[in-house]
Amino acid sequence: MEERYSKAETLALRRKHIGPSCKVFFAKDPLKIVRGQGQYMFDDKGEKYLDCINNVAHVGHSHPYVIKAATKQMELLNTNSRFLHDNLVQYAQRLTATLPEKLSVCYFVNSGSEANDLALRLARQYHGHQDVITLENAYHGHVTSLIDISPYKFNQLGKDSKKEFVHVAPSPDIYRGKYREDHPDPASAYAEEVKKIIEETQKNGRKIAAFIAESMQSCGGQVIPPVGYFQKVAEYVRAAGGLFIADEVQVGFGRVGKHFWAFQLQGEDFVPDIVTMGKPIGNGHPMSCVVTTREIAESFGASGMEYFNTFGGNPVSCAIGLAVLEVIEKEDLQGNATRVGNYLLELLAEQKEKHPLVGDIRGIGLFVGVDLVKDQQKRTPATAEALHLIYKLKEHQILLSADGPHRNILKFKPPMCFTMEDAKHVVETIDALLTEMEEATGMKTENNASTNAQCKRKTTEGSSQPEGANESIGHMNGAACRQENGLYSKKPSLSSKRIRT
Ligand code: PMP
Repeated sequence: MEERYSKAETLALRRKHIGPSCKVFFAKDPLKIVRGQGQYMFDDKGEKYLDCINNVAHVGHSHPYVIKAATKQMELLNTNSRFLHDNLVQYAQRLTATLPEKLSVCYFVNSGSEANDLALRLARQYHGHQDVITLENAYHGHVTSLIDISPYKFNQLGKDSKKEFVHVAPSPDIYRGKYREDHPDPASAYAEEVKKIIEETQKNGRKIAAFIAESMQSCGGQVIPPVGYFQKVAEYVRAAGGLFIADEVQVGFGRVGKHFWAFQLQGEDFVPDIVTMGKPIGNGHPMSCVVTTREIAESFGASGMEYFNTFGGNPVSCAIGLAVLEVIEKEDLQGNATRVGNYLLELLAEQKEKHPLVGDIRGIGLFVGVDLVKDQQKRTPATAEALHLIYKLKEHQILLSADGPHRNILKFKPPMCFTMEDAKHVVETIDALLTEMEEATGMKTENNASTNAQCKRKTTEGSSQPEGANESIGHMNGAACRQENGLYSKKPSLSSKRIRT
């Protein structure tokens, strides 16, 4: 299909009319994507990119079954939830069937941010408490109430940006955090930190409304909390009159494979008080949801204020939501996430053996992180190297991102139709690129901890960018910086093989 504007024109118009804090991926040479199919995205030249980052196109880009469900309902009716409609109740029934029994009441909203904002309202109404405990490096959304509880964001505003009612607990990261894999009981140790915060808060006369955490931290660095951590935190938080909010906006809907929800990795004895959902729920259609218990919902209703959301729970969104659930089941995408995820982890584990740049591999299902380090012992984040790799992968038509507080963690969260072949292709390409980078820096033979100092400084500046801008080289002088460090191989790089269409 002929594009209305050339890529340069699109970019110029974007610069003119779109707010400058809305960043693009690969700022030096942004992609103009015009079509998606399955786990692939196609640019304006018809080039095909393997999408390893898009957890929104959960069941695959432009899935025909989802499109059909949306079109069919749009042809018939779309209106608000003040009218009775079967789609709303059918979807609520289907969605809650995936959750523990007591999580039975839904509020349909339109974005992850709206879901988390409403979750905070529910929690604050429940006992009239105000304070929130959040995790280090957490991101929960872009609205004012959530920037306040997102250290990933508010830390960028300077040291006085944390509000009084916000309390930040250490991220339960056993690779980089306070208690590591050699600790006898990191779950209890990290939960104890939350308990200390609660005690301190109470001493100051403040009251905890909620503890909020992603069931696995994504922007925060692909962190999988140790089993048992949530149970203990929930016990302490509830004893203080607060609620446990599990943010499943990135990690829900079967991404972890063996469970539908990532909080279920903690064990059957753990049930959050509120679960928030977004991104994958509508496969790209803007919709989201808050699910809670009857008791919490009744307490919210007791304020007497109506909750009305113009678009939330409309018949089209619900038809789409239902179609997504059906595809996950029919195509056994959870099974696929387990099989392909395990294979990907196996292949990456081999890379860890082989490459000094690979410090840690962690993941479950199709949620995988590769922690790049400059020094295996010190675990010094290899920030510049991660960015370099992301850009080289783009040249090989593979889309991957680097995230975490140091932007050194390769973040896999592909559409759930990702295949074994895709996993093999990506890891082979990463292998070749890492070899090239290590050879260029002499990393195999000597510890190269002091290299890239300049790049590191530049990318640290880059890290003060809004979410999604972390892959941008707009803030590091890409090629020049890499050449200074010898990160650019003088040898011809890996053949720029195209993925076959
Ligand atoms: N929670 C988490 C964990 C997220 O990653 C995001 C978005 N990156 C949000 C909430 C906010 O979602 P949205 O952008 O749809 O408002």
